[in-house]
Amino acid sequence: MGDNFAYLLPLTMVMFGCAFLVVWRWGARPALSWAIGFLCGAGGFSLSMLSGHVPDAVIAIASDMIFSVSFFFYGQALVDRLGGPVFLRSRLAICGLSLLLSLWSVLYLRDLHAELALNDFCCGLMALLPLIAMRKHLHRAIDKALFAVTALVVADSLGRASTVLLTAPADIDGFASSEYAFVMQLTASVLAVLFALTALAAVGLDVVARYRQEASTDPLSALLNRRGFEDAVAGFRVGDPAAGSVVTCDIDRFKRINDRFGHAVGDRVIMALAQTIRAALPPGGIAARFGGEEFVIYLPAMGAAEAKLFADEVRTGFSEQDWGSAGIDGVLTASFGLSGTQVTDFSIHDAIARADEALYDAKRAGRNRVSVKLALISPESGHAGRAETKRITPQAG
Ligand code: GH3
Ligand code: MG
Ligand code: MG
Repeated sequence: MGDNFAYLLPLTMVMFGCAFLVVWRWGARPALSWAIGFLCGAGGFSLSMLSGHVPDAVIAIASDMIFSVSFFFYGQALVDRLGGPVFLRSRLAICGLSLLLSLWSVLYLRDLHAELALNDFCCGLMALLPLIAMRKHLHRAIDKALFAVTALVVADSLGRASTVLLTAPADIDGFASSEYAFVMQLTASVLAVLFALTALAAVGLDVVARYRQEASTDPLSALLNRRGFEDAVAGFRVGDPAAGSVVTCDIDRFKRINDRFGHAVGDRVIMALAQTIRAALPPGGIAARFGGEEFVIYLPAMGAAEAKLFADEVRTGFSEQDWGSAGIDGVLTASFGLSGTQVTDFSIHDAIARADEALYDAKRAGRNRVSVKLALISPESGHAGRAETKRITPQAG
């Protein structure tokens, strides 16, 4: 029975290691650390098969080293999901220390118990540190699942380390066929499969989330694109009279900027306006670049008067920027259109259309201003009719 596990466990881990390599090739960065972790784990468990052909001390030291490296990389894969080098030095130090402790316990102490306990303890610690870092980032179900399985792996390692005196044979002879080795391989098999499946699911879901985010984000401005905007506003009921306001925005005389200073400078101007919008955006506000130098902002549950203050803040913030470093000597400005969503609106696009009309009013009236267009609520007409609009075009401040 023990012999079967001896083959089955490394084979399973190699298969998962290869699966992670494939996922890594698809562009999931943390999958490489998972692959190295599982392939090293497979190597560590395979070494016991060399018993009788290679000195036991060599097998013990090599497998300790390989297990330590595999746990370092499991930890790396876990912290990679959080971003940044979390506990990197501590984990590297523990990995190095575990190698020294292995040499000391095998060559100097010649104590199997010490060797097993120290290696399990170091491995458990290397998985415990990422667990500590992960505890504040358990937002999704998959994060919680990965946290729980990692906690089981830590408990298995630390539990085995602390009970080794009671459970492990004192001598290396007959170790491979001992009950300790059997139980260790059994728990390792179950945990390795559980760990790998959860990690694969986490990596897969991370890739899907990343693609979804890329598909809904405008790369130049880092705001939402049109698709992202549609998805973000899909949950709002525009029929509610207090549903909010829509602001549309377009940079003034932008073609001239492109023509005189080049497309790259034009791009910088687009990014600057996007940054000004982002800085002024209230919590819950949704901002998107709809194309070119045109932006649409939805301000849920915000009345026209407050939305006007927001639009004016962006307008003045943008027009006060100094463009000397880009070689532009004059002032750059943008025009804004604003409309509130109405109870008779069929979708948010009715409010966007009104805000667009207001934007053209702002352009016609001389640019660098916020124009407001509020639809009258007309029970007979059904939708907010474009003909039935009340206009307030405030002066540029
Ligand atoms: P107006 O004040 O009436 O808005 O005049 P305008 O020159 O800004 O006119 P318009 O809004 O039609 O100009 C849009 C220009 O935006 C045309 C196009 O060359 C430029 N454009 C579109 N997308 C991009 C982009 O991604 N980067 C840059 N640099 N320019 C872009
Ligand atoms: Mg335009
Ligand atoms: Mg323009």
